[in-house]
Amino acid sequence: MTRPPFEAPTDADVAVVSQQLGRPARGVIGIAARCVCGNPTVVATSPRLPDGTPFPTLYYLSHPGATAALSTLEATGVMTELAATLDDDGVADAYRAAHASYLADRESIEVVPEIAGFSAGGMPDRVKCLHALGAHALAAGPGVNPIGDAALARASWSPERCTCAEPGAARGA
Ligand SMILES: [Zn+2]
Repeated sequence: MTRPPFEAPTDADVAVVSQQLGRPARGVIGIAARCVCGNPTVVATSPRLPDGTPFPTLYYLSHPGATAALSTLEATGVMTELAATLDDDGVADAYRAAHASYLADRESIEVVPEIAGFSAGGMPDRVKCLHALGAHALAAGPGVNPIGDAALARASWSPERCTCAEPGAARGA
């Protein structure tokens, strides 16, 4: 898990991310989380893409196994269940703090007025995208994003069990 400032991604990192996404990766400024094999699982993306487009999703889940597992959770109604946990004041407070932390991380890289106050995934008070919330949890580590942590805990995918198409490709293995 890695938060800003990020080390610049290597060419091999960007190549793996492009393969994961099935398109050329744009605006990659670092690798925020990795599989146990070293391949990227979460890319840090510039708050403003090279073509000038504002991009709020600083932490973007790139790993196909992870995105598939979280899509499965979304399809089975887990978002409603996780949203209900926000009825607990402690969880709601932690989720708002996760939102603030996300914005602080992003604004430490660049402040983009068009997306000021918008983080990702439905934060600070809704649950709209488990991919974005899981990516934040993977980047920030356990205990920062309670909904992202809960989603990852239920997912059939884990960064501790490599399911990469080419394990270790980012490290030239
Ligand atoms: Zn792997």
